[in-house]
Amino acid sequence: MRDCTQEHIVIAIDGPAGAGKSTAARILAKKLGFLLLDTGALYRVMAMHLMRNGVDPEQSQGPIPAEALHGINFSIEPDVASMRLFLNGEEVTHLIRDEQIGIAASKFSTRPEVRKALLETQRSAAEKCSLVAEGRDMGTVVFPHAKIKFFVTADVEERSHRRCLELLGRGQEANFHQVLEDMRARDLRDRTRREAPLVQAEDAIFINTTNLNPEQVLELMVSRVKELGCFLE
Ligand code: C5P
Repeated sequence: MRDCTQEHIVIAIDGPAGAGKSTAARILAKKLGFLLLDTGALYRVMAMHLMRNGVDPEQSQGPIPAEALHGINFSIEPDVASMRLFLNGEEVTHLIRDEQIGIAASKFSTRPEVRKALLETQRSAAEKCSLVAEGRDMGTVVFPHAKIKFFVTADVEERSHRRCLELLGRGQEANFHQVLEDMRARDLRDRTRREAPLVQAEDAIFINTTNLNPEQVLELMVSRVKELGCFLE
């Protein structure tokens, strides 16, 4: 792993669901010896916590009670290329991967109080070590001074197809048309919300992964990292 006493570097990777950014972030972090910060996972843990506390993701009126928001006691165990998450002592790393939790996370993430509650957790991760941080607003809001920014996307049909394969791989059911509809709804919510919408940062490098495999995406990223950052031998 990269020496944590050196200057900390943040590589920000943003993009919509299913664009391949998680895989890219994981393998890039491993290659560089950086920690992986999967911020979607933080929004998923928050969604799980809020729902367990009786907050309905469909209810958009009125603020989320502060005691529900701040009563969250979660810990992240970041590692090179992976991240374990605990909610009130229970490991939820795999539980949060449920499709319904992803949809609830997308709904809760439109709420400014939810975004605010998670901001510090994300920024403080970069105080400890160099990071590959992936999400929707890494390069625009959370780490606007990130050394390198990527914006990764792919056609919505291709992203839905990938999501179906992922669900089937986990032994879950997958109906392509339902996944496509959910993906479109999630894209629209993420792109049009008032607070930290999903947009490409002006200085981000755009990568369309529709016809690329994970190795090709990594290759593109590594070549840009070499050009711009020079922290690979
Ligand atoms: O990336 P993932 O699908 O795990 O994220 C779940 C949801 O959390 C996204 O649909 C998005 O609405 C929200 N999110 C966000 N900002 C981030 C990361 C995720 O709003 N930085």
